[in-house]
Amino acid sequence: MQTSPWSRSPGSNGDGASRHQGPFTRQYPGNTFGPYSSQVSNAPFTGTSARTAARQQSHAGAVIAIILVMVLVLASGMAVQNVQTGMANYHAQFTGLQQSASPSESRSASTSSWNLSAEQTCANLSSAIASLEGWTDSDGTTAPAELTTLNNDQSACAGDLSHLSSADLDAISNHTIDALLAWNDDMVEFYRYRSAFITYRIDGKWPGDPKKLEALLDTSGWSDDPTYAAQQAAKLKSGTDAVLAKIADVVADLHNREAKIAGIQADDRASEQEIWAAIDTITNEMGVTYSFEPLSVCGGGGRGNDPSTVAFFCQDGTLDYRNKIMFNTGYVLWDLGARGDPWMLDAAKHELAHRSISIACGTVRPKIAGSRFEAVTNAYAYRFMGLNRQRNEEHQSGLEEYAAGDAEMAIAQKIHDGTCS
Ligand SMILES: [Zn+2]
Repeated sequence: MQTSPWSRSPGSNGDGASRHQGPFTRQYPGNTFGPYSSQVSNAPFTGTSARTAARQQSHAGAVIAIILVMVLVLASGMAVQNVQTGMANYHAQFTGLQQSASPSESRSASTSSWNLSAEQTCANLSSAIASLEGWTDSDGTTAPAELTTLNNDQSACAGDLSHLSSADLDAISNHTIDALLAWNDDMVEFYRYRSAFITYRIDGKWPGDPKKLEALLDTSGWSDDPTYAAQQAAKLKSGTDAVLAKIADVVADLHNREAKIAGIQADDRASEQEIWAAIDTITNEMGVTYSFEPLSVCGGGGRGNDPSTVAFFCQDGTLDYRNKIMFNTGYVLWDLGARGDPWMLDAAKHELAHRSISIACGTVRPKIAGSRFEAVTNAYAYRFMGLNRQRNEEHQSGLEEYAAGDAEMAIAQKIHDGTCS
């Protein structure tokens, strides 16, 4: 949200400025996120002719998102809960998610006999270890006990295998199965809780068939055949790596686009036409549309339309609002010169920074930013999007929650580097 201080009353705590805060995955009744309102006819401008098409497209995207959630969520009713899982640690460099402890389920150790050759047993072990690369406990650094056991077994498979007894081989196979099943449990948790989140981050463009991924999360037969389990795990690992690579690509692309718009400026003598042409350019470059909407378009339960809010970005965790920013029709200065103020370009960049952070971290309000998230958003736009800092600070004089200092600049850098908590 981009706010001007003109009408703030003493003791106001930002009020409307918190409208796009909140957990990423939930939509609570009365929360700030919701369906489109019908009030767009009040808009003084239609900022883009693509609005209708974009809305239709985003609705289609929302359907896809819902389908993906349904496909990938293997347990009922918990997909949208903002629960941290042990798997959140896995590939945290990609997801930037906050971590918290998630005790592994204990399962009985497998004790079957397999009658496999030493070569096959050790090949399965090696494959399993490769699939489980990067798997950690909920602290993000410790290898799960099952993986540690596999790593210990690896020494037995080094060199001459003839010394391995059938009991040794059975033990290795059972360890392999146990580790793969435990790892799969974590993967199921990961996708159960993160599928909507991932869908948002990658703009719905899954790098493969989610149904195949779902099938690989099914461990039917894994405990009956260690060779099959190792093969399926390798496929699942490949599918998951593709998802993570896609996220990395999206973030890299985002950063490239940010660097391009950093050079798009409007000086203080820019005409209204030049200002809005610049806004057209930066939104096009970022792949978003903009429009003029009442603040309530994000939902908000009748909190009214804050007249000091210039622009805003909605985040409801679906694709509906991922690629659009809004200017507030309720901004009271539109007809008193705001349209011709080059600060509108700064406001647009600020909202685009909210969006970048939401893609990088899955929320406009990552843990690392805490209550300073508006200031961090400004800092992000100063650092990476060429937001005119001096002009913005003049316009936001007295708005402490937007004032970026060294601490906020450092946090913005960390978010850009992939750290969100
Ligand atoms: Zn903001």
